[in-house]
Amino acid sequence: MLVFSLLTAPGWTWQRSRIHADGLERTTHEAQIATDASAEHTRRVISQGDTYLRAVRGYYLRTRSLEENRRFVASLALDRTTFGSIQLIDTRGSLILASEEGSASDNAAERQFFRFHQRTPADIIHIAEVEMGRLTKKHYFRITRRISNPDGSFGGVVVLSVDPQAFTEYFRQMTTGARGSAALLGARDHKLRARLPEPLLQAWQTPVQSVLWNALTRSATGTYRAPSGVDGVDRHFVYRTVRDLPMVVVTGFAPVDVERRAAGRLLPFTIGTLSALAFISLLAAVLTVIYRQRHDLETLATTDALTDIANRRQTIATGAHEVARTLRYAKPLSVLMIDIDHFKVVNDTWGHRTGDRVLQSIARTMQSMVRDQDSVGRIGGEEFAVILPETTLPGAQAIAERMRTAIQATSAATSDGDQAVYVTVSVGVATLLPGESEFDTVLARADEALYRAKTSGRNRVVTG
Ligand code: GH3
Ligand code: MG
Ligand code: MG
Repeated sequence: MLVFSLLTAPGWTWQRSRIHADGLERTTHEAQIATDASAEHTRRVISQGDTYLRAVRGYYLRTRSLEENRRFVASLALDRTTFGSIQLIDTRGSLILASEEGSASDNAAERQFFRFHQRTPADIIHIAEVEMGRLTKKHYFRITRRISNPDGSFGGVVVLSVDPQAFTEYFRQMTTGARGSAALLGARDHKLRARLPEPLLQAWQTPVQSVLWNALTRSATGTYRAPSGVDGVDRHFVYRTVRDLPMVVVTGFAPVDVERRAAGRLLPFTIGTLSALAFISLLAAVLTVIYRQRHDLETLATTDALTDIANRRQTIATGAHEVARTLRYAKPLSVLMIDIDHFKVVNDTWGHRTGDRVLQSIARTMQSMVRDQDSVGRIGGEEFAVILPETTLPGAQAIAERMRTAIQATSAATSDGDQAVYVTVSVGVATLLPGESEFDTVLARADEALYRAKTSGRNRVVTG
């Protein structure tokens, strides 16, 4: 499970960063398309307005009649959702004709657009900054052209007001994510002409501080990442200048929105990883249970349940194995057969449960007195065998004697009535003789010796 997690973690992290990078690339691409489309849209709107400016100017220069011009202006089917009033201003800055009642009637002589056309003979469209209509309380900006007399002298200005909403409505369809933004800016004065979301009032008059102006000197289109110069939100930006006009469109999208999109795409992969993890865990759990059951069965088959030492079958298997090894390496091998004396009396006197505790205690004592390579097994009710590899007959006798005295000297158990219970054992010792190759043979000889120990008085060691 841990291993699987360690193995999948880099894959998941990789997938996550891949989806994120992919998300950023896709979103940037979308923003590029939105920016290009918005720039083209802007060019078309301004160029439509410019057509009106040129038409009204041309008619005025031809007729010079305000009355005819008024009729002409009224006949123009101006797109009211985009354009406001169209106006004629004379050489002194006075409004001489307006397509709408209630248009600003103050003198334009000091206005920036007026002064620009007054001193610039070239026929250039001027795009003024955003203002608030005094009566309408709506924002608009003016696009203007110079009226030049046939001799080239200044003949006034023709003016059309444009509603920034004509652009924001378009931006609304193009921006990406909840924190997306789009702006139309003057490339010369760095001021906003339209923005989504709508900026605070004073932002219209303040030049926007941005790395955009630097980027713009290098290329007409590009991307950058920065806190927005208008609302300070960290965004990725894509910009493009509007063809033939001193304007630039900038669309921005927030990293959090990319993150959110990536999270949506990462979800199926995360679910996949987690399901695989869950499946592997389940498999591991099932295998563990199977392994444990098999282990338990094996233990059950080889171990004596009461004393926790090898059972008869396992003892005989170990004996056969040790005999084979002994023969191969020409080493000695000895065996002890141990039987508790008058065990029936223990049961009869103290009860079966005390008898069980005695059996457990004797098994533990014997186990503690042999080396690691020796094996102690319970081969009958109160009969035990000890297999002693690489042990000669005298060595085995010594071990047997030590066991017998130790058992005799210490209380094997306490009875249910809290009394110390002592037992003795009789031991038969035998060793594998030259020419012998069966464990049964040496075990039988140890059993014979045990029988003699019993018949000759018990609590003793007899060698076969
Ligand atoms: P001897 O000195 O001749 O060996 O006498 P003994 O009483 O030990 O021999 P015997 O074979 O007559 O009796 C063995 C007794 O061991 C009989 C049986 O009830 C008891 N016994 C065998 N297995 C268990 C066991 O698992 N628990 C208990 N408490 N007693 C057992
Ligand atoms: Mg006995
Ligand atoms: Mg017995």
